[in-house]
Amino acid sequence: MRDEDLLQATSYRDRISTVTKSGERNWVYAAQPAGKWYNYRKILAYSYMLVFVILPFIKVNGLPFLMINIPAGRFILFSKIFWPQDFYIFAIAMITFIIFIVLFTVVFGRLFCGWVCPQTIFMEFIFRPIEWLIEGKPGQQKKINAGEWSMKTIFKKAVKHYLYLLISFAIANIFLSYIISVDELVKIIKEPIDQHYVLLFGLIFFTLLFYGVFAFVRDLVCTTICPYGRLQGVMFDKDTMQIAYDYKRGEPRGKFKKHAERTDGDCIDCLKCIDVCPTGIDIRDGLQMECIGCTACMDACDKMMEAVDLPKGLIRYASENKISKGHPFRFNGRMIAYTILLSVLFLIMTFLVITRKTVDTIISRVKGQMYQEVPGDKISDLYEAKILNKTKQAMPITLKVEEFHGEIKLIGIKQIILAPENITKVDFFLEVPKSELPHRSNKIKIDVFYGDDKIQTVKTKFLGPFK
Ligand code: SF4
Ligand code: SF4
Repeated sequence: MRDEDLLQATSYRDRISTVTKSGERNWVYAAQPAGKWYNYRKILAYSYMLVFVILPFIKVNGLPFLMINIPAGRFILFSKIFWPQDFYIFAIAMITFIIFIVLFTVVFGRLFCGWVCPQTIFMEFIFRPIEWLIEGKPGQQKKINAGEWSMKTIFKKAVKHYLYLLISFAIANIFLSYIISVDELVKIIKEPIDQHYVLLFGLIFFTLLFYGVFAFVRDLVCTTICPYGRLQGVMFDKDTMQIAYDYKRGEPRGKFKKHAERTDGDCIDCLKCIDVCPTGIDIRDGLQMECIGCTACMDACDKMMEAVDLPKGLIRYASENKISKGHPFRFNGRMIAYTILLSVLFLIMTFLVITRKTVDTIISRVKGQMYQEVPGDKISDLYEAKILNKTKQAMPITLKVEEFHGEIKLIGIKQIILAPENITKVDFFLEVPKSELPHRSNKIKIDVFYGDDKIQTVKTKFLGPFK
């Protein structure tokens, strides 16, 4: 191919489909897809929405199944409370998740965007269907937006935007219930509004944010804002599965003529694949950053192939190597490396979650306090313990010292009872026989017992007289 031809053929890469040459927004009027893949996506999308709505209501042992209270630094996952002290588990989980997404993208392309991403799910299965229902097919929508607004148009627009706002408000409420729990949300709704201005502001903010995204920003989220979308280019290789147009079979494209012998390729240039594309691209130009892997063009093309009695799959899931060289799918070196890394991280994370402590204790000598000599030829040091109980139940615990015949004497209390989901402060004296202390500063271990179970061992220092 000559350089000018190559430049011409790839000029679509110099711009994005949703922006005109003069820099204005190119509004996408996508047609409703129909077909096998759209039906699969519908099932997944509505199941996913159902899970999104009911998950905040699910509780195990009185705790929500999932709660992510970022402002309070409190997270509940699988009904287990995680505190800021457990942040390292979250950090590992985030890294594992990112590697998983990278591996997934290297192998399956933007499958996440098309099938699972909330932006696509809500846009394509709630907001856009409402638009089709109220304003009609893309042609009718274009007409409405281009012409003078009649009372009927204003009514249609008002109904659509009212529904959009209502649904955005519902999503914002569900979203909030993941942060503060559904019980707290219901309590706040019942209480006078002037006690919860901050939350009200949050609700209004998120409602307007969702409304703005789904009513106006739309595909720009996927093509311009989302960092994951922007990273696709560096993650894809020629073995990545993607939604691909089989240019070997399709080109040269040419219109379908009934009863005439076909000398062109299989693409009948009907443009149906472009009509249904929610990001407004022509998949026949090749892999593009804007493609969210939604399968709409696959369904549209299959339908046309069926109608003209040609084999389906002109647009299908395939790697570039499969289309250009006929290579079957292979797990290449990069994929193997990511898989090993992911497995190791997953094992580390499982280990950390399983061995995660329900009680976290910090013990330190009270600063500025000297040791004391006490009756029985013993030395006594003053300590302060801060004990975090991560569970929902009050926990009676005992502190013991197994070395040096140490004895703990609590100050002001007889028994340590840890308040649920709280930090309990305890002061105590630790007495050790003088004769057993080998040094002035001695390392000592204090064990924390819950019943007969030793749940933690804390290392600290015990100071005595010079030897
Ligand atoms: S090119 Fe096809 S798969 Fe990609 S976004 Fe458009 S319709 Fe969806
Ligand atoms: S839908 Fe299929 S046949 Fe029609 S233009 Fe697209 S690729 Fe060609």
